[in-house]
Amino acid sequence: MNRRDVDREKISPMMRQYLDIKDNYNDTIIFYRLGDFYEMFFEDAIIGSRELELTLTGRNAGLDERVPMCGVPHHAYLSYLDKLVEKGYKVAICEQMQDPKTTKGMVDREVIQVVTKGTRLDAFLNEKDNNYIGSIYDFEYCYGISFTDITTGYFYTLIVDHDSEKVIKEVVKRNINEIIVNDKIDREIINNLRENYNILVTITDDLYEKDDYKFVYKKISDIRSITSIKHLLAYIINTKKGDLSHLQEAEVINSDSYLSFDVHTKRNLELTETIRNKDRTFSLLWLLDKTKTAMGSRFLKYNIENPLTDIEEINRRYGIIEKLLNEFILKEDLQRELDSVYDLERLAGRIAYGNLNARDLIQLKNSLKVLPSIHDILEELDYSKNIETLEELYDLLEKSINEDAPITVKEGGLIKPGYSSELDEIKSLSSGSKDFILNFEKEERNRTGIKTLKVGYNKVFGYYIEVSKGSIPLVKEEWGYDRKQTLSNCERFTTPILKEKENIILGAEERIINLEYRLFMEIRDEVKKYIGRLQKISRVLAEVDMMASLTTIAEENAYVRPTITLERNINIKDGRHPVVEKVIKDAYVPNDIVMGKDTDILLITGPNMAGKSTYMRQLAIIVIMAQIGSFVPAKKCSIPIFDKIFTRIGASDDLVSGDSTFMVEMKEANNAISEATENSLILFDELGRGTATYDGMSLAQAILEYIHDKIKAKTLFSTHYHELTSLAVDLPHLRNVHVSAIEDQGKITFLHRIKSGAVDKSYGIHVASLAHLPKSLIDRANEILNIYENKGDKKETFTQTSLFLNFDEKEEENKPSIVEEKLAKLDPLQMTPMEALNTLYELKEDLKNQENK
Ligand code: ADP
Repeated sequence: MNRRDVDREKISPMMRQYLDIKDNYNDTIIFYRLGDFYEMFFEDAIIGSRELELTLTGRNAGLDERVPMCGVPHHAYLSYLDKLVEKGYKVAICEQMQDPKTTKGMVDREVIQVVTKGTRLDAFLNEKDNNYIGSIYDFEYCYGISFTDITTGYFYTLIVDHDSEKVIKEVVKRNINEIIVNDKIDREIINNLRENYNILVTITDDLYEKDDYKFVYKKISDIRSITSIKHLLAYIINTKKGDLSHLQEAEVINSDSYLSFDVHTKRNLELTETIRNKDRTFSLLWLLDKTKTAMGSRFLKYNIENPLTDIEEINRRYGIIEKLLNEFILKEDLQRELDSVYDLERLAGRIAYGNLNARDLIQLKNSLKVLPSIHDILEELDYSKNIETLEELYDLLEKSINEDAPITVKEGGLIKPGYSSELDEIKSLSSGSKDFILNFEKEERNRTGIKTLKVGYNKVFGYYIEVSKGSIPLVKEEWGYDRKQTLSNCERFTTPILKEKENIILGAEERIINLEYRLFMEIRDEVKKYIGRLQKISRVLAEVDMMASLTTIAEENAYVRPTITLERNINIKDGRHPVVEKVIKDAYVPNDIVMGKDTDILLITGPNMAGKSTYMRQLAIIVIMAQIGSFVPAKKCSIPIFDKIFTRIGASDDLVSGDSTFMVEMKEANNAISEATENSLILFDELGRGTATYDGMSLAQAILEYIHDKIKAKTLFSTHYHELTSLAVDLPHLRNVHVSAIEDQGKITFLHRIKSGAVDKSYGIHVASLAHLPKSLIDRANEILNIYENKGDKKETFTQTSLFLNFDEKEEENKPSIVEEKLAKLDPLQMTPMEALNTLYELKEDLKNQENK
């Protein structure tokens, strides 16, 4: 049955109410509160029953057919809701806004929030990951991206070029799970995000224009960033509907402030997950994460994805590690205290939004309890930041909230005795009556002589006196027993005094629950005033936690403090790959990486499995660790600050885009070449192997020359084209290094040691012979090699062809044409329409002349 075709005149009033609400939520499943259930109807019911494996039933609604329906119990709806959201659905929760008990007729219902992938606040989220929702605003000449984690309130904004690949990469790199876009955006981008990256995309042009969330962008002046933030705000405020006052001031991400790299590099280097299993275990994050709090863990992840470029800040962090290494007892105390700190950032979110319970407040209290001690430790360490201790908030929670309060806030049991005299009074009245009832049983037994007489309670009949069937004849008229209920084996009675006590107890219970709820809300409102201060404390604790974790790792693995040089000099003594050294069975072979001011490119040759790509990754990881402010796996390390890292390592992991491996390789090479500066790091592993030998080799050479002459970025380039090693003769900033293997008792052993110079030309054939290929085959291979080598001087062939680009000539080709030059000088805002038309005509004439030349 189709929802749109039903006759709303005929349908029952409740269903009409449903349809009116559903009209505004066409792309959203509605959980519609009916008594103890959230029901889904029509197509929502069909989806719900399929995705959640629920029985599809029907409901009479005055129509010829029953309306499809399925439902979930309201007390356990969260896990169902989470399942749907996880699968990419949006779910609106539609509540009863009036108490059905006290309302005549139909109760009002309203959608109180919409839950989507990016706007979840529930307990199913992984505490070590941020859950980001973002917006892309297409300005037609650039994109504004804003994103936030509404569980913690962190908010970021940035501008990227009007390039669809870049904007997609940015969204994917930042792990944004849900994105909203304005209508102008290219549909290809939407399809790509949805289909290849499983990101939930919603198109909307709404901007949030009210001033109550201005604090998010009050310090930002770029109107594009403000628009992009308002775009995101409109969506999250409209879906969450609640108080989001915990959102924080947006941070403008300026590409200069961070070491940047794209999502491929992040994957290639296995920074936060491994390529093969997409698992955190064996990633750099896994290695470095010895944090004690969820905040610290998320902050570390953010830093690994966004290392710094500010030398002062980086050195400050080295200083902290040094201090913590010296003061190891204080460091251990610090970590012990941090262990009792809960996720204050997400707690702050729940406090603002209101979905918190008494247990959250107990967690808050336990966290606050250790703040004074952390404060003192930081002071003793001379730490450059400190925290407020919020003792008054601790005292409030300590005297008010019951340690073993239940999860729900509407059943009482929340407030400690002594906090409210009104509450204590009602409680003592109620417990006085309860005591009376306890004694009453004994007294009645004595008074009546009926040994089996019992006093009990049930929800429907209240308190009663129970007399077993056999003793009923003993019940006397003058006792005033009033019959309440007859069961097969007993009778239940009440008496005036029991009734009176029952009224006191039941009345008191309701008053207690209501009063406790009111008190709890008052306490919550008081706590709410501290959100900003709690967030400030959280930021410091997250950093302290991360620094303590980096210290532990530095200590356990004998890392050193790097020296940041202002020259373009890399000097790493005995460097290691921190993750590989942890996971391999054999001992890791440390290697130096030396690239002086005059060396920009290391050309690395050597057989497969020798350790070339590990060596390359090792450098990138050391750079990233150093720019996070961490110590690094080496004996000595001196490096400059890098602005960007580009990599092309290992097999293509971009299977989703449908490009061939070679195309992906070339795109990434192009990306590096067009974006790299002399302060960047480029890692190219066997670039060009995806195509025919001469093709690949020629491209590799041209790329090397381009980097050498034009970009001058520090570059590690591994290759199995040993012909390329002769480039060192002509390219003064390129040096050859190689990794070799030896024969050890008939077996090939890789020493993984990087040495100066190029690998021996017949190295491949040598390795083949070590692998015991037939002797005749090896001889033939040597013969063929000789033929190739005698064909001419390789160097000449390669350096004298047109492949050796004359970059000045190329530049000539790129010179702007007359038309382009004229266009560049025009200012349309200063022209009359007539002048504009005339100029257009002239330009057209110029173009004609130019083509006729
Ligand atoms: P290539 O890129 O030359 O094919 P890899 O860098 O992939 O080689 O290394 C091959 C294997 O050798 C890796 O799996 C790693 O376990 C091991 N390896 C690489 N470098 C080292 C090293 N320095 N010390 C010990 N083992 C290493």
